[in-house]
Amino acid sequence: MMNSTSTEKVVGAIEAGGTKFICVVANAAGDILSRALIPTEQPKTTLASCVRFFSQAQLQWGRMSALGIGSFGPVELNPKAEDYGCIKKTPKPGWSGTNFVGFFAQQFNVPVAFDTDVNAAALGEHLQGAARGCDDFVYVTVGTGIGAGVMSGGRLVQGVTHLEVGHILVPRHSFDINAVSNCPFHQNCLEGLASGASLGLRTAESVKDLPLDHPIWVAEIYYLGLMCANLTQLYAPEKIVLGGGVMMKEGLLPKIHAEFLRQINGYAHERILGDVANYIVLSELDGKAGVAGAIALARSLS
Ligand code: ZN
Repeated sequence: MMNSTSTEKVVGAIEAGGTKFICVVANAAGDILSRALIPTEQPKTTLASCVRFFSQAQLQWGRMSALGIGSFGPVELNPKAEDYGCIKKTPKPGWSGTNFVGFFAQQFNVPVAFDTDVNAAALGEHLQGAARGCDDFVYVTVGTGIGAGVMSGGRLVQGVTHLEVGHILVPRHSFDINAVSNCPFHQNCLEGLASGASLGLRTAESVKDLPLDHPIWVAEIYYLGLMCANLTQLYAPEKIVLGGGVMMKEGLLPKIHAEFLRQINGYAHERILGDVANYIVLSELDGKAGVAGAIALARSLS
């Protein structure tokens, strides 16, 4: 626990995930003063627990000057939209239409900064992790699902809505012709075929214990190599940062490097071809990037 004075400016931050919410209060330097893990249940229950945490923390650390939220999606990020700050239609029971920004702004009378969980994590990697000093990079989380935040010229890329890199369409690996896609929308998207959840559908065994030459991993390496090749051609990033539970598999990254080079077949900048180990890298903040980014979102307002 850090020491604080009642005059110190503190901010609140939430990484709102599909299985848990991480709530923190941080000081002006970004140091975490209080932290709570809250399971993602029905919105009413989860949001009430968040309110209890922040109310308690404010008694201890003083009033929050702003709140930053990185949320699971899909979410509305356009401040001009009527449903700005809301969860859009989601299969997660009860959460469709939940208005995060409105709820917390009203509860605590603070400005609320809002973005996707993966954009918050990308921001965290940019400020404190593997993409420090890098204004053009892609951060991808390969976990239960797949998502990416793209920073271009120092700004997180956003169009009419946030990017959905997990749903880019890919040719199936020959080992996977009959595999069941885990995406309800697409038979051939990355999330449907290469997310941790989709790998879990292929076998009763624990995927992480299978060797990397097992067909499941051979296909996974192919998909992730393909993903990195496509991201390279689309965004010309200085770096691709890979995080998430699937990337914890030992020895996976060098296999992705080799597959990326095989697929890109010499057609990339010499900086990339000559130093792929420093081009496609692992997250340095895994598990903490989202919170670091949500704190940065809040501090951008305070
Ligand atoms: Zn999909």
